[in-house]
Amino acid sequence: MSDVTTYQNYIDGTFVESVAGELRDNRNPANDALLSRVPESDADDVQRAVEAARAAQAGWAATPAVERAGYLTAIADKLRANADHLASVIVAEQGKVRALAETEVNFTADYLDYMAGWARRIEGEIIESDRPGEHMFLFRKPLGVVAGILPWNFPFFLIARKMAPALVTGNTIVVKPSEETPNNCFEFTKLADTVGLPKGVFNVVSGGGASTGNALTAHPDVDLISFTGSVGTGSAIMHNAADHITKVNLELGGKAPAIVLDDADLDLAVQAIKDSRVINNGQVCNCAERVYVQRGVAEAFQEKIAKAMQATSYGDPGADSSVDMGPLINQAGLDKVSRMVDSAKQAGAEVLTGGRVADVGQGYHFEPTVLAACTPDMDVMKDEIFGPVLPIQVVDDLDEAIALANNSDYGLTSSVYTASLNQALKAVRELEYGETYVNRENFEAMQGFHAGTGKSGIGGADGKHGLYEYTRTHVAYIQT
Ligand code: NAD
Repeated sequence: MSDVTTYQNYIDGTFVESVAGELRDNRNPANDALLSRVPESDADDVQRAVEAARAAQAGWAATPAVERAGYLTAIADKLRANADHLASVIVAEQGKVRALAETEVNFTADYLDYMAGWARRIEGEIIESDRPGEHMFLFRKPLGVVAGILPWNFPFFLIARKMAPALVTGNTIVVKPSEETPNNCFEFTKLADTVGLPKGVFNVVSGGGASTGNALTAHPDVDLISFTGSVGTGSAIMHNAADHITKVNLELGGKAPAIVLDDADLDLAVQAIKDSRVINNGQVCNCAERVYVQRGVAEAFQEKIAKAMQATSYGDPGADSSVDMGPLINQAGLDKVSRMVDSAKQAGAEVLTGGRVADVGQGYHFEPTVLAACTPDMDVMKDEIFGPVLPIQVVDDLDEAIALANNSDYGLTSSVYTASLNQALKAVRELEYGETYVNRENFEAMQGFHAGTGKSGIGGADGKHGLYEYTRTHVAYIQT
């Protein structure tokens, strides 16, 4: 056997084995190679981590925000200095292409810097009182201990998206990475450990959802559960949170509609929608998941996008840096995509390109796929596919497209392609979504506010509004 790394949890400033000593294998989705063994933490490990975070919190909150921010910028510098290595770790365990992994690392470092920049901008309010001689002060205070539960699709960035606003506002945090992608989190943690963060401020416990995740989100001493992942897990977490009236921040799935109108720049729309459907191997919460194209350009759009999808190369991104796309994350993901495409075909969808599990020997690859003649009742038009599959429905006008787009459980992101400002603004007014992109697709900006309606979540992330999700208000009435 081998030089396979065995990682340890990070609790109270120390790397430690799990109490029960259980380990879980972590494998490369492109070739099944064993990458590492990581702790399968249980309720005892979670208990130790939450206790450490609780013990550290008051001291951390009493530390000036600008000093707290200094640790974040120090970590950002470490990430940039180790970007090559970190990108390799992400490629190996998650399967995204190297260029995107490098972008993820650099964006994560920038995000830490950005959130650190809020240190001198956290503002309370002075409010006019109804009483003579009284002062009303509204303070912004940390919530306490945050549980950060991460998905696997942008596993590295999500660490920062949760820990940076949590820490700069004076909370401490226990992070649980996805069981699919724990290595990058432990590599992040090794670097974070070198900047001298006070013990207990940042803790990491790895393990499965039903075990570690459940124990952490059911813990009575957690003040905020900040979760990114699927709708089903979000719902399970809300049930846990209900027992202790714990605040939740839920960033869940999406089913982003892309609306392409007759007057759109067609080449731009094709390029943007294709890129969005292919990036991260089709596994992004806010990529175009369904297209409504207006009748006048439907034929041309379908022809062009089928060509573009067909030209998309795929394979093991660790072995071949030229591929456009890597594998899906696991067998369950591949089975789900395959099942949805088969069911659409049976219901009358026309395969313009792709449509099958890809035959590349190993790894969970699905062919880049375009499905025409889709109808609203098909699963591919209703449920999150999370794979390189683009279902298309032809519509008569913007009103029909908006009605179809809004008839969804999800409400994360949406897009519209048009040369008309009126049409664009009508779409922005009427689409019931947290984000609308005009003449482009994802990604969102760190100074925006990434939030969904409906089953896409509760609360949001990024920018000022995302920062304040990690605070509570405290109003003082002071009679003089
Ligand atoms: P998932 O829900 O399967 O897992 C997410 C995390 O939850 C993992 O760490 C998992 O271990 C944990 N978990 C699972 N069951 C749990 C339980 N009962 N209690 C506590 N924790 C539990 O999601 P995933 O497959 O890792 O991620 C893909 C999903 O995430 C997609 O639906 C995608 O749209 C969504 N996502 C949303 C955003 C956003 O910003 N809205 C961003 C990225 C991903």
